[in-house]
Amino acid sequence: RKRCIRISTGSKQLDVALNGGFQTMSVNEVYGEFRCGKTQMAHTMAVICQLPREMGGAEGKVAWIDTEGTFRPERIAEIAERFGVDGQQAQDNIMVARAYNSEIQCEMLETLAQNFATNQYRLLIIDSLISLFKTDYVGRGELQERQSTISLFMRRAAQMADEFNLVVFITNQVMSDPGASALFAGVDGRKPAGGHAVAHASTTRLLLRKGRGEERVAKIIDSPDCPEREATYIITTGGIND
Ligand code: ADP
Ligand code: MG
Repeated sequence: RKRCIRISTGSKQLDVALNGGFQTMSVNEVYGEFRCGKTQMAHTMAVICQLPREMGGAEGKVAWIDTEGTFRPERIAEIAERFGVDGQQAQDNIMVARAYNSEIQCEMLETLAQNFATNQYRLLIIDSLISLFKTDYVGRGELQERQSTISLFMRRAAQMADEFNLVVFITNQVMSDPGASALFAGVDGRKPAGGHAVAHASTTRLLLRKGRGEERVAKIIDSPDCPEREATYIITTGGIND
């Protein structure tokens, strides 16, 4: 039987809040405004995933679906340096696939399944989940089809998390439609995009926001085994830290 592994976020405080980090065999979603650190957290996780277990890693490779062109190999090298691992090797262990439309984004999961079958991978990053769906499905008339396609994508990702013992790490935006935000106003008035299609498939959801000065705050919104609580973190050259 596969054993669930936890991967550190790079912040001790946030790891504690998450009972040790993000779990394999689950879908983990971070959502928040621009520049709150979603992509930086993805870069940090991509390095930590490769580390030994005693360093918070999972000794595994990483697959990264990049929908916004924001993956930066230089950042991987900088974060690798913090943890004393070779920058080039850290980059080589991350398979990056750039998706330019939502159809390709969906197909990529199937392509990646073949890589995951090697049992060398422990992390699948999707940064970000919704952006291509937003540009490919416009207007009210396409909303239903958009939602059902997102739903299928999320279900497949969740299934792969289980089957291949992966942390699925998804970044998401906050809802941009002010009318809808007002209607669903929840935690701090900020709601993740994607509605039920995303909510149903996410195991753990984290709301990220800017705090005082350089500080950022992560709030656990939805988790099967953690209470709702907050942790602060900062973004450094070496990635997410305390
Ligand atoms: P999001 O994906 O949520 O829009 P990002 O993960 O791109 O946000 O985070 C952007 C923030 O990360 C910016 O505030 C930027 O200053 C900070 N950042 C990026 N690179 C570094 C670095 N090398 N050192 C410190 N902070 C950085
Ligand atoms: Mg980003």
